Amino acid sequence: MFHSARLKLTAWYLLIIMAISFAFSLFIYFGSTREFDRILRVQRYRLNNPARIRVFQSDIPLPINPPDPDVIEEAKTRVFEGLLGVNIVILIVSSVAGYFLAGRTLKPIAKMVDEQNRFITDASHELRTPITSLRAEMEVGLRDSTLTLQGARDLLKSGLEEVKNLQELSDSLLVLSQPEKQNGSSLFAAIPLSPIISEAIKKVKPLAVKKHIKIHSNLQKVQVTADKQSLVQLFIILLDNAVKYSKAKKEIRVSSEKSDGRILVYVRDQGVGISKRDQEHIFDRFYRVDSSRSKDGVSGYGLGLSIAKNIVETQHGKISVKSEAGIGSTFTVEFPTVS
Ligand code: ADP
Repeated sequence: MFHSARLKLTAWYLLIIMAISFAFSLFIYFGSTREFDRILRVQRYRLNNPARIRVFQSDIPLPINPPDPDVIEEAKTRVFEGLLGVNIVILIVSSVAGYFLAGRTLKPIAKMVDEQNRFITDASHELRTPITSLRAEMEVGLRDSTLTLQGARDLLKSGLEEVKNLQELSDSLLVLSQPEKQNGSSLFAAIPLSPIISEAIKKVKPLAVKKHIKIHSNLQKVQVTADKQSLVQLFIILLDNAVKYSKAKKEIRVSSEKSDGRILVYVRDQGVGISKRDQEHIFDRFYRVDSSRSKDGVSGYGLGLSIAKNIVETQHGKISVKSEAGIGSTFTVEFPTVS
């Protein structure tokens, strides 16, 4: 597809360039032949009317020989051949340059299309698994003639759980597919950071309490230029992961500092940690560290950190991780200071 689009675009480039070149050549050719004919006419007139020239234009020397029409015709042919040659050169050069430029123009579009296709494939793959298991569960339940009321209730409960997961997944997919919504630069404003983080902590607290995990915060009074709701979502993702990937009774610390004109926010946990190899991929869509999948039945689709990364980048910041397997992880979010 990329190749045929490239050829089509090259053809369009060529068509435009050659149309301009052809029109320009026609203009030059007819302009110059008219000028040659005029010269011929003037010369003839002067030869035939020497007396008039002497009276009215005495400074012009009279032509000695009669004009030679063959020379004029030869000059016209030369102009024609010259223009033809120039057009052939333009055709060759613009074919090569057009093909090269078309490739460069289409490359980012092709990359985007590839990415979209991968996104759709990954998303359908992730959606298929819970849908299949939900369907299987329902079919088995329907076929079971001995199904009791309690059994039906359990079936509905587990189905509802799957539906909740699916809803979570589709919400995440929606956020990821519309990064411009997170961008909403009209919502950007200078806002204090600590109420945002407090709001995120409040949202995650019930999960932390369940696992007897304490969340401490030590935040400086700093402001960032950002969209408030997106920032709350960002810190919910980081804190939720910190809780999810920590064993019971551990601690999570959120702190901030100003350094070299930047604002740094750290989310530290004492969780399972992430190996060096996995650290390179955790911000990719649908990436989940294998061990965490099996560990304590932690649920997730590997979308949280890619959403976090999107949010941070649309707020002109950076996100990074330092982690050691078995010791814990520190996620650092960096924002430019409010000018
Ligand atoms: P999800 O948590 O839904 O799997 P994320 O994109 O949020 O998806 O995270 C990707 C992977 O990164 C997780 O599967 C997990 O293995 C790892 N990870 C993220 N945060 C942490 C953390 N705080 N501690 C350990 N591993 C983490």
